[in-house]
Amino acid sequence: MIYLSRQEGLKDFATRFRPFKKITTRFVAGETIDETIQVIRQINAEGCSASFDHLNESVTSAAEASEEVAEYLSILARIDETGIRSNVSIKLTQFGLALDPEIAYKNARRVVEEAQRRDNFVRVDMEDSQVTQLTIDLFKRLREEFGLNDVGIVLQSYLRRTYQDAQQLVKLPARIRICKGAYNEPPEVAFPDKKDVNENYIRVMRLLLSSGIYHGIATHDPKMIEATINFAGREGIGKETFEFQMLFGVRRDLQRQLARDGYNMRVYVPYGKHWYPYFMRRLAERPANIWFVMKNLLKG
Ligand SMILES: Cc1cc2nc3c(=O)[nH]c(=O)nc-3n(C[C@H](O)[C@H](O)[C@H](O)COP(=O)(O)OP(=O)(O)OC[C@H]3O[C@@H](n4cnc5c(N)ncnc54)[C@H](O)[C@@H]3O)c2cc1C
Repeated sequence: MIYLSRQEGLKDFATRFRPFKKITTRFVAGETIDETIQVIRQINAEGCSASFDHLNESVTSAAEASEEVAEYLSILARIDETGIRSNVSIKLTQFGLALDPEIAYKNARRVVEEAQRRDNFVRVDMEDSQVTQLTIDLFKRLREEFGLNDVGIVLQSYLRRTYQDAQQLVKLPARIRICKGAYNEPPEVAFPDKKDVNENYIRVMRLLLSSGIYHGIATHDPKMIEATINFAGREGIGKETFEFQMLFGVRRDLQRQLARDGYNMRVYVPYGKHWYPYFMRRLAERPANIWFVMKNLLKG
Protein backbone atom coordinates (compact mmCIF):
# COMPACT_ATOMS: atom_id res chain seq x y z
CA MET A 1 0.00 0.00 0.00
CA ILE A 2 2.82 2.41 0.86
CA TYR A 3 4.47 1.43 -2.46
CA LEU A 4 1.19 1.94 -4.33
CA SER A 5 0.71 5.30 -2.62
CA ARG A 6 3.70 6.58 -4.65
CA GLN A 7 2.57 5.24 -8.06
CA GLU A 8 1.65 8.17 -10.26
CA GLY A 9 -0.26 6.08 -12.85
CA LEU A 10 -2.51 4.52 -10.24
CA LYS A 11 -2.95 7.90 -8.60
CA ASP A 12 -4.22 9.41 -11.88
CA PHE A 13 -6.60 6.52 -12.41
CA ALA A 14 -7.93 6.50 -8.83
CA THR A 15 -8.48 10.25 -8.62
CA ARG A 16 -10.53 10.19 -11.82
CA PHE A 17 -12.50 7.02 -11.02
CA ARG A 18 -15.79 8.27 -9.52
CA PRO A 19 -16.72 5.26 -7.32
CA PHE A 20 -13.27 5.42 -5.72
CA LYS A 21 -13.66 9.11 -5.01
CA LYS A 22 -16.92 8.48 -3.17
CA ILE A 23 -15.24 6.01 -0.82
CA THR A 24 -12.58 8.52 0.19
CA THR A 25 -15.18 10.43 2.22
CA ARG A 26 -14.46 7.82 4.90
CA PHE A 27 -11.12 9.60 5.58
CA VAL A 28 -11.27 12.86 3.62
CA ALA A 29 -13.75 15.63 4.50
CA GLY A 30 -14.36 16.87 0.96
CA GLU A 31 -12.75 18.85 -1.82
CA THR A 32 -13.37 22.41 -0.63
CA ILE A 33 -12.83 24.55 2.45
CA ASP A 34 -16.58 25.01 2.86
CA GLU A 35 -17.27 21.25 2.82
CA THR A 36 -14.57 20.82 5.45
CA ILE A 37 -16.05 23.57 7.62
CA GLN A 38 -19.35 21.66 7.69
CA VAL A 39 -17.52 18.53 8.83
CA ILE A 40 -15.60 20.46 11.50
CA ARG A 41 -18.81 22.04 12.82
CA GLN A 42 -20.08 18.52 13.47
CA ILE A 43 -16.78 17.52 15.12
CA ASN A 44 -16.95 20.64 17.33
CA ALA A 45 -20.53 19.77 18.26
CA GLU A 46 -19.24 16.43 19.54
CA GLY A 47 -16.88 18.24 21.91
CA CYS A 48 -13.70 17.94 19.80
CA SER A 49 -11.50 20.56 18.16
CA ALA A 50 -9.91 20.06 14.73
CA SER A 51 -6.81 20.56 12.64
CA PHE A 52 -7.51 21.67 9.06
CA ASP A 53 -5.24 20.02 6.49
CA HIS A 54 -5.09 20.72 2.76
CA LEU A 55 -3.86 17.60 0.97
CA ASN A 56 -1.11 18.15 -1.59
CA GLU A 57 2.23 16.58 -0.79
CA SER A 58 4.08 16.74 -4.06
CA VAL A 59 4.05 20.19 -5.53
CA THR A 60 6.32 20.49 -8.55
CA SER A 61 6.72 24.24 -9.00
CA ALA A 62 7.19 27.38 -6.94
CA ALA A 63 3.90 28.66 -8.36
CA GLU A 64 2.04 25.61 -7.07
CA ALA A 65 3.69 26.06 -3.64
CA SER A 66 2.46 29.69 -3.61
CA GLU A 67 -1.06 28.44 -4.35
CA GLU A 68 -0.78 26.27 -1.23
CA VAL A 69 0.11 29.36 0.82
CA ALA A 70 -2.94 31.18 -0.58
CA GLU A 71 -5.11 28.17 0.28
CA TYR A 72 -3.88 28.19 3.89
CA LEU A 73 -4.39 31.94 4.22
CA SER A 74 -7.99 31.37 3.11
CA ILE A 75 -8.38 28.52 5.62
CA LEU A 76 -7.16 30.73 8.46
CA ALA A 77 -9.52 33.53 7.39
CA ARG A 78 -12.50 31.14 7.17
CA ILE A 79 -11.73 29.65 10.59
CA ASP A 80 -11.87 33.18 11.99
CA GLU A 81 -15.06 34.11 10.14
CA THR A 82 -16.95 30.95 11.05
CA GLY A 83 -15.68 30.64 14.62
CA ILE A 84 -15.02 26.91 14.28
CA ARG A 85 -12.52 25.48 16.75
CA SER A 86 -9.61 24.49 14.53
CA ASN A 87 -5.94 25.08 13.94
CA VAL A 88 -4.06 24.05 10.76
CA SER A 89 -1.56 21.34 9.83
CA ILE A 90 0.93 21.85 6.99
CA LYS A 91 3.50 19.73 5.18
CA LEU A 92 6.75 21.40 4.12
CA THR A 93 6.85 19.45 0.82
CA GLN A 94 3.56 21.14 0.06
CA PHE A 95 5.33 24.48 0.35
CA GLY A 96 8.20 23.49 -1.95
CA LEU A 97 10.68 21.61 0.27
CA ALA A 98 11.77 19.34 -2.58
CA LEU A 99 12.30 22.29 -4.89
CA ASP A 100 14.26 24.50 -2.50
CA PRO A 101 14.15 24.48 1.33
CA GLU A 102 14.35 28.28 1.34
CA ILE A 103 11.13 28.50 -0.68
CA ALA A 104 9.46 26.13 1.77
CA TYR A 105 10.70 28.18 4.72
CA LYS A 106 9.41 31.48 3.31
CA ASN A 107 6.05 29.94 2.46
CA ALA A 108 5.66 28.31 5.88
CA ARG A 109 6.75 31.56 7.51
CA ARG A 110 3.97 33.46 5.72
CA VAL A 111 1.35 31.01 7.02
CA VAL A 112 2.68 31.06 10.59
CA GLU A 113 2.75 34.87 10.52
CA GLU A 114 -0.92 34.91 9.50
CA ALA A 115 -1.79 32.32 12.14
CA GLN A 116 -0.08 34.44 14.79
CA ARG A 117 -2.00 37.51 13.63
CA ARG A 118 -5.24 35.57 13.92
CA ASP A 119 -4.30 33.97 17.23
CA ASN A 120 -4.23 30.52 15.67
CA PHE A 121 -1.61 27.74 15.54
CA VAL A 122 0.29 25.92 12.78
CA ARG A 123 1.42 22.32 13.18
CA VAL A 124 4.24 21.23 10.88
CA ASP A 125 3.58 17.57 10.00
CA MET A 126 6.52 15.17 9.76
CA GLU A 127 7.11 13.36 6.47
CA ASP A 128 9.53 10.60 5.47
CA SER A 129 12.98 10.26 7.04
CA GLN A 130 14.78 11.90 4.12
CA VAL A 131 13.36 15.22 5.28
CA THR A 132 13.32 14.74 9.07
CA GLN A 133 16.42 16.85 9.76
CA LEU A 134 15.43 19.52 7.26
CA THR A 135 11.94 19.73 8.77
CA ILE A 136 13.36 20.10 12.29
CA ASP A 137 15.87 22.75 11.11
CA LEU A 138 13.20 24.83 9.35
CA PHE A 139 10.88 24.43 12.32
CA LYS A 140 13.59 25.73 14.67
CA ARG A 141 14.00 28.82 12.49
CA LEU A 142 10.25 29.42 12.68
CA ARG A 143 10.32 28.96 16.46
CA GLU A 144 13.11 31.52 16.81
CA GLU A 145 10.83 34.11 15.28
CA PHE A 146 7.40 32.98 16.46
CA GLY A 147 6.00 31.92 19.80
CA LEU A 148 5.40 28.55 21.45
CA ASN A 149 1.68 28.91 20.76
CA ASP A 150 2.11 29.91 17.10
CA VAL A 151 3.88 26.88 15.66
CA GLY A 152 4.60 23.27 16.64
CA ILE A 153 6.09 20.13 15.12
CA VAL A 154 5.48 16.37 14.83
CA LEU A 155 7.79 13.50 15.84
CA GLN A 156 7.41 9.81 14.94
CA SER A 157 8.10 7.10 17.52
CA TYR A 158 9.20 4.58 14.86
CA LEU A 159 12.37 6.62 14.24
CA ARG A 160 15.39 5.64 16.32
CA ARG A 161 16.42 9.30 16.66
CA THR A 162 13.09 10.55 18.03
CA TYR A 163 13.71 10.38 21.78
CA GLN A 164 16.81 12.59 21.40
CA ASP A 165 14.90 14.95 19.10
CA ALA A 166 12.11 15.19 21.68
CA GLN A 167 14.60 15.97 24.47
CA GLN A 168 16.14 18.78 22.44
CA LEU A 169 12.90 20.25 21.12
CA VAL A 170 11.28 20.30 24.55
CA LYS A 171 14.19 22.49 25.71
CA LEU A 172 13.43 25.14 23.02
CA PRO A 173 10.61 24.91 24.22
CA ALA A 174 8.36 23.50 21.47
CA ARG A 175 4.92 21.97 21.24
CA ILE A 176 5.17 18.45 19.84
CA ARG A 177 2.68 16.01 18.39
CA ILE A 178 3.92 12.47 18.92
CA CYS A 179 2.63 9.82 16.48
CA LYS A 180 3.95 6.38 15.47
CA GLY A 181 4.85 7.34 11.88
CA ALA A 182 3.20 6.50 8.58
CA TYR A 183 5.97 6.02 6.00
CA ASN A 184 7.93 2.99 4.89
CA GLU A 185 11.35 3.37 6.50
CA PRO A 186 14.51 1.22 6.42
CA PRO A 187 15.58 -0.57 9.64
CA GLU A 188 18.69 1.63 9.95
CA VAL A 189 16.48 4.60 10.76
CA ALA A 190 13.25 3.08 12.09
CA PHE A 191 12.40 0.24 14.46
CA PRO A 192 11.11 -2.63 12.31
CA ASP A 193 9.37 -4.22 15.30
CA LYS A 194 6.01 -2.77 16.37
CA LYS A 195 6.84 -3.56 20.02
CA ASP A 196 9.83 -1.18 19.90
CA VAL A 197 7.76 1.51 18.17
CA ASN A 198 5.18 1.27 20.97
CA GLU A 199 7.81 1.28 23.74
CA ASN A 200 9.42 4.35 22.22
CA TYR A 201 6.01 6.00 21.90
CA ILE A 202 5.39 5.56 25.62
CA ARG A 203 8.89 6.81 26.51
CA VAL A 204 8.41 9.96 24.43
CA MET A 205 4.83 10.46 25.68
CA ARG A 206 6.13 10.43 29.29
CA LEU A 207 8.86 12.94 28.45
CA LEU A 208 6.31 15.22 26.80
CA LEU A 209 3.71 15.03 29.55
CA SER A 210 6.35 15.73 32.21
CA SER A 211 7.61 18.82 30.38
CA GLY A 212 4.79 21.16 31.40
CA ILE A 213 4.27 22.14 27.74
CA TYR A 214 0.95 21.54 25.93
CA HIS A 215 1.58 18.59 23.55
CA GLY A 216 -0.51 16.36 21.27
CA ILE A 217 -0.72 12.61 21.82
CA ALA A 218 -1.76 11.34 18.38
CA THR A 219 -2.86 7.72 18.23
CA HIS A 220 -5.87 5.42 17.84
CA ASP A 221 -4.14 2.67 19.76
CA PRO A 222 -6.10 1.91 22.95
CA LYS A 223 -2.86 0.72 24.63
CA MET A 224 -1.09 4.05 23.97
CA ILE A 225 -4.16 5.96 25.18
CA GLU A 226 -4.41 3.87 28.33
CA ALA A 227 -0.68 4.33 29.02
CA THR A 228 -1.11 8.10 28.66
CA ILE A 229 -4.15 8.27 30.95
CA ASN A 230 -2.45 6.08 33.58
CA PHE A 231 0.79 8.05 33.49
CA ALA A 232 -1.02 11.39 33.76
CA GLY A 233 -3.13 10.07 36.65
CA ARG A 234 -0.11 8.70 38.53
CA GLU A 235 1.94 11.88 38.08
CA GLY A 236 -0.92 14.27 38.86
CA ILE A 237 -0.78 15.74 35.33
CA GLY A 238 -4.08 17.52 34.60
CA LYS A 239 -6.32 16.57 31.66
CA GLU A 240 -6.21 20.16 30.44
CA THR A 241 -2.41 20.13 30.00
CA PHE A 242 -2.32 17.95 26.85
CA GLU A 243 -4.60 16.76 24.06
CA PHE A 244 -5.33 13.49 22.32
CA GLN A 245 -5.42 13.63 18.54
CA MET A 246 -6.95 11.24 15.99
CA LEU A 247 -7.62 11.20 12.28
CA PHE A 248 -10.99 12.02 10.73
CA GLY A 249 -12.88 8.78 10.11
CA VAL A 250 -10.81 6.62 12.48
CA ARG A 251 -12.22 5.41 15.82
CA ARG A 252 -14.92 8.06 16.02
CA ASP A 253 -16.44 6.19 18.97
CA LEU A 254 -13.20 6.58 20.93
CA GLN A 255 -12.89 10.25 19.93
CA ARG A 256 -16.34 10.99 21.38
CA GLN A 257 -15.69 8.86 24.47
CA LEU A 258 -12.46 10.67 25.35
CA ALA A 259 -14.15 14.06 24.85
CA ARG A 260 -17.02 12.95 27.11
CA ASP A 261 -14.46 11.84 29.72
CA GLY A 262 -13.14 15.41 29.81
CA TYR A 263 -9.99 15.01 27.69
CA ASN A 264 -9.05 17.55 25.05
CA MET A 265 -9.59 15.76 21.74
CA ARG A 266 -8.48 17.10 18.36
CA VAL A 267 -9.44 15.54 15.04
CA TYR A 268 -7.14 15.95 12.04
CA VAL A 269 -9.36 16.77 9.08
CA PRO A 270 -7.85 16.53 5.59
CA TYR A 271 -9.54 17.77 2.43
CA GLY A 272 -8.71 18.46 -1.20
CA LYS A 273 -8.34 16.85 -4.58
CA HIS A 274 -4.91 15.31 -3.90
CA TRP A 275 -6.18 12.69 -1.45
CA TYR A 276 -4.53 9.64 -3.02
CA PRO A 277 -1.25 9.17 -1.01
CA TYR A 278 -2.96 10.09 2.28
CA PHE A 279 -5.82 7.68 1.60
CA MET A 280 -3.43 4.84 0.67
CA ARG A 281 -1.42 5.33 3.88
CA ARG A 282 -4.66 4.94 5.86
CA LEU A 283 -5.41 1.68 4.05
CA ALA A 284 -1.87 0.48 4.76
CA GLU A 285 -2.43 0.95 8.50
CA ARG A 286 -5.38 -1.37 8.66
CA PRO A 287 -6.06 -4.22 6.22
CA ALA A 288 -9.74 -4.21 7.27
CA ASN A 289 -10.07 -0.88 5.50
CA ILE A 290 -9.01 -2.49 2.21
CA TRP A 291 -12.01 -4.83 2.49
CA PHE A 292 -14.18 -1.81 3.21
CA VAL A 293 -12.97 -0.26 -0.08
CA MET A 294 -13.40 -3.48 -2.10
CA LYS A 295 -16.90 -4.03 -0.73
CA ASN A 296 -17.98 -0.50 -1.63
CA LEU A 297 -16.40 -0.63 -5.08
CA LEU A 298 -18.25 -3.89 -5.81
CA LYS A 299 -21.50 -2.36 -4.56
CA GLY A 300 -20.88 0.42 -7.13
C1 LIG B 1 -3.69 13.50 14.48
C2 LIG B 1 -2.68 12.66 13.76
C3 LIG B 1 -1.69 13.28 13.05
C4 LIG B 1 -0.72 12.52 12.39
N1 LIG B 1 0.34 13.14 11.78
C5 LIG B 1 1.32 12.41 11.24
C6 LIG B 1 2.50 13.01 10.74
O1 LIG B 1 2.69 14.22 10.76
N2 LIG B 1 3.46 12.18 10.22
C7 LIG B 1 3.32 10.82 10.18
O2 LIG B 1 4.22 10.12 9.74
N3 LIG B 1 2.19 10.24 10.65
C8 LIG B 1 1.21 10.99 11.17
N4 LIG B 1 0.09 10.37 11.69
C9 LIG B 1 -0.15 8.92 11.40
C10 LIG B 1 0.49 8.05 12.45
O3 LIG B 1 1.88 8.12 12.32
C11 LIG B 1 0.05 6.59 12.30
O4 LIG B 1 0.35 6.14 11.02
C12 LIG B 1 -1.43 6.36 12.54
O5 LIG B 1 -1.94 7.21 13.53
C13 LIG B 1 -1.66 4.92 12.98
O6 LIG B 1 -1.00 4.68 14.19
P1 LIG B 1 -1.74 4.43 15.59
O7 LIG B 1 -1.03 5.17 16.64
O8 LIG B 1 -3.16 4.78 15.46
O9 LIG B 1 -1.50 2.90 15.92
P2 LIG B 1 -1.56 1.55 15.06
O10 LIG B 1 -0.60 0.64 15.74
O11 LIG B 1 -1.41 1.79 13.59
O12 LIG B 1 -3.04 1.07 15.31
C14 LIG B 1 -3.54 0.78 16.59
C15 LIG B 1 -5.05 0.54 16.51
O13 LIG B 1 -5.69 1.76 16.10
C16 LIG B 1 -6.76 1.50 15.19
N5 LIG B 1 -6.45 2.09 13.86
C17 LIG B 1 -5.27 2.60 13.48
N6 LIG B 1 -5.32 3.09 12.22
C18 LIG B 1 -6.55 2.85 11.78
C19 LIG B 1 -7.23 3.10 10.55
N7 LIG B 1 -6.62 3.68 9.52
N8 LIG B 1 -8.53 2.72 10.46
C20 LIG B 1 -9.17 2.14 11.52
N9 LIG B 1 -8.57 1.87 12.69
C21 LIG B 1 -7.29 2.21 12.83
C22 LIG B 1 -6.86 0.02 15.13
O14 LIG B 1 -7.75 -0.41 16.13
C23 LIG B 1 -5.47 -0.46 15.46
O15 LIG B 1 -5.42 -1.75 15.97
C24 LIG B 1 -0.84 11.09 12.40
C25 LIG B 1 -1.84 10.49 13.12
C26 LIG B 1 -2.75 11.23 13.81
C27 LIG B 1 -3.78 10.54 14.62
